Amino acid sequence: MDSDVIIVGAGMAGLSCARALQQQGIDCRLVEASDGVGGRVRTDTFRGFLLDRGFQVLLTAYPETRRALNYDALDLHSFYPGALIYTDRGFQRLTDYRRRPKEFLPELRSSIATLSDKARLARLSSHVTRRPAGELAEDVTVLEGLRARTFSERFIQTFFRPFFAGVFLEPTLSTTWRQLEFVLRMFSTGRTALPAGGMGSLAEHLATQLAEDSVTLRSKVESVGPGLVTLGSGEKLTCRAVVLASEGPEANRLVPSAQSPPYHEVTCIYFSCSSAPIQEPILILNGTGTGPINNMCFPSRISRSYAKSDAELVSVTVLGNPKGTNKALNTAVRAQLRSWFGSTVESWEHLRTYRIAHALPSQRPSHASLGSAPQEPGIFACGDYFESASINGAMASGRQAAAAVAASLGARNGETSPDTAA
Ligand SMILES: Cc1cc2nc3c(=O)[nH]c(=O)nc-3n(C[C@H](O)[C@H](O)[C@H](O)COP(=O)(O)OP(=O)(O)OC[C@H]3O[C@@H](n4cnc5c(N)ncnc54)[C@H](O)[C@@H]3O)c2cc1C
Repeated sequence: MDSDVIIVGAGMAGLSCARALQQQGIDCRLVEASDGVGGRVRTDTFRGFLLDRGFQVLLTAYPETRRALNYDALDLHSFYPGALIYTDRGFQRLTDYRRRPKEFLPELRSSIATLSDKARLARLSSHVTRRPAGELAEDVTVLEGLRARTFSERFIQTFFRPFFAGVFLEPTLSTTWRQLEFVLRMFSTGRTALPAGGMGSLAEHLATQLAEDSVTLRSKVESVGPGLVTLGSGEKLTCRAVVLASEGPEANRLVPSAQSPPYHEVTCIYFSCSSAPIQEPILILNGTGTGPINNMCFPSRISRSYAKSDAELVSVTVLGNPKGTNKALNTAVRAQLRSWFGSTVESWEHLRTYRIAHALPSQRPSHASLGSAPQEPGIFACGDYFESASINGAMASGRQAAAAVAASLGARNGETSPDTAA
């Protein structure tokens, strides 16, 4: 027997599963196809810049990351509690007034939101933070939920659409309202942050909590059967249980009874510049509904570590996987940035473009039934598509899979659980 449990994939779900198994004294091994841990949460160092593989943030209120990560060691740097929105009347700011009450009066004349919109948003934030744990919100789309709460159409289109399209990586706001309530609760009760080492440091931090040699990198799993994992090299590994912790489509390839929801794609483009036109550590949204950009920011204004000392990093998010070459996309993005910030944009240097095919699983109403664990004995599955599509959801799913594996191994050992003991 090579290992009691073999976990396929060392993303946040696989790492969290391994951590929970090892905490219970169960021997496990992670087999990862790529050259590093983290899956979608990885950071590349390129010419002195930290490039997250797609713009991401840590919401410090996430229960799973609070449980497993040492925030002090990660050296977190926070965003301004609000957003800057580019509209047909230029940039306008929207602040979370519960955190920055002094901003309320200066923003009173903002054209993005009416006073009623602001009151409704405050009511919604306080409602989601007070909803008792376990009580489910309604399972309608985000757009239906916003309209039912009578937010003005201008506020929906200029703020909610780019903001939540950036969170759920889909522009139609057809994600379930339950996810909106979860995410809004996290935004409202914690900070939005980047770790000094880049988002990938979350995964590396989790990996350091595992026993030495728990992870085998550069080893793609080709096939899986009960108690047997075959690698691309032809090597066969034996075990008592397998956990599929890959993205849904790959889990489905390995074990067809593991269903996968469809995924949203996203493209992230990085530039460097000598001076950021916006100095605040703030998220910038495209409230115009036109052009390729959905959201952007200057990560080095949030954490200096993201850029070398004489430069700033620019991160631009484009939803989907636009047709055409990276060069054509960069030209279109640069043209839009120029209309926002002026000719200074011409001097910005393109660093890299990341096109991410399986960025986030779709979470439409009733999405919970779309991904389902395989029905094969000894084979388990986890990943963000079983929970909320987020770092928190991936980690929660990994921990839950570990509990199921531990129960099954205990049962197969003939152990009696405390609940059933006479
Ligand atoms: C651009 C972008 C922005 C995001 N923004 C946020 C955000 O701001 N906040 C947030 O909380 N979440 C965000 N997310 C979502 C979050 O990153 C994911 O939900 C989470 O990381 C998923 O983790 P996972 O372990 O389920 O899957 P993955 O990270 O996809 O891990 C799967 C792993 O399995 C490996 N693998 C696949 N097939 C095989 C095989 N055959 N053999 C061996 N290994 C295999 C892969 O290489 C990978 O390492 C974002 C995601 C993206 C892409």
